[in-house]
Amino acid sequence: MADHPSRIELISSTIEDLSDLFRNISQPAYRSRQVFGWIHCRGIADPHKMTDLPKDLRRNLVDLGLSWPAQVGEVLRSEDGTRKLEMILPDGCAVETVLIPEGDKLTQCVSSQVGCSVGCTFCRSGHAGLKRNLTAGEIAAQVHLARVAHLPGERLRNIVFMGVGEPLHNVRAVGRACELLCHPQGLDLSTRRVTISTVGIVRGIDRLAQMTTGHVALAVSLHAADEATRRRLVPGARDTIADIVQALVRYPLPKRRRFTIEYVLVKGVNDSERAARQLVHLLRPIRCKVNLLPMNPHDKTDLLPPSEDQVLAFQKILVEKGVSAFLRRRRGGDINAACGQLLSVDSKGGR
Ligand code: SAH
Ligand code: SF4
Repeated sequence: MADHPSRIELISSTIEDLSDLFRNISQPAYRSRQVFGWIHCRGIADPHKMTDLPKDLRRNLVDLGLSWPAQVGEVLRSEDGTRKLEMILPDGCAVETVLIPEGDKLTQCVSSQVGCSVGCTFCRSGHAGLKRNLTAGEIAAQVHLARVAHLPGERLRNIVFMGVGEPLHNVRAVGRACELLCHPQGLDLSTRRVTISTVGIVRGIDRLAQMTTGHVALAVSLHAADEATRRRLVPGARDTIADIVQALVRYPLPKRRRFTIEYVLVKGVNDSERAARQLVHLLRPIRCKVNLLPMNPHDKTDLLPPSEDQVLAFQKILVEKGVSAFLRRRRGGDINAACGQLLSVDSKGGR
């Protein structure tokens, strides 16, 4: 899958890339740090507003096409404070990003692709297949442009790649976006506060382990402890559960950190006591906690969440066997901003 082929994306550039570019137009290297700071710290990509740059450099940047590769479209606000923003991309595609407040701290859920090829049967985001990967700049733009929907005093604390798309099918751009967002001259977010959620792409997990951007947190969407059930829920999965577990076992997880295992509970499919016991057994070799997500129902599927009693019974088995298991609270359900409810739109307006 090719990245979007538009002009050189200055927004996706590191300070080092910018230095190379500026050397070619006879600008001193320190300008690259200034420009990077305007974009990735202050969230300003309009060269006219970069007031400490000489006028000829500002003109150069305009000529080079420096601008955000996205525009904010519709903004929806949930009664629980969650906000969902539509991001319209240069080719007319759109993805969604969500701000989730906890006191004055915000978690932002970002998208990594337009659509998704994995096609999990309970997920609305993957329903129409994959249209294209996002660039690192398009991912970073979601974070910076969403500032228009921050309330006074709110601070971005966590970024989770849990929007539309499978981040490890776009690992290069996702890795670069993490590098840009966590850079000390950018937002200076701690890599511990960035979580990549993946359906379990073994090559991508191995690649992430080698990346130099520091250790972002990893969440693996498992949903089943046996292959037959997982195939039913995650038909596009190429790697087996056993291979995913092995990838986690060899992953160089820093001390005092653990993986998150995500398990969407679907009524009558993966919510039995037997399934809970199988999960306990499977997770033995991994340092992890489990997030249980009762499925958020939506218009693209007949699948439903289990009853609350069933959810609690499932959690109890895990906890009694020594597995940390948490129930994830559903946020933004009234504006379709909860997990698995986000959509992307392709340039012809199809969903
Ligand atoms: N593709 C990645 C990240 C995006 S999905 C992944 O699958 O991990 C983010 C999370 O939302 C995943 O854990 C996914 O399983 C969950 N999710 C998807 N659809 C859901 C639904 N209808 N209800 C609850 N969680 C859902
Ligand atoms: Fe893709 Fe994740 Fe949705 Fe599955 S749950 S279809 S991997 S976005």
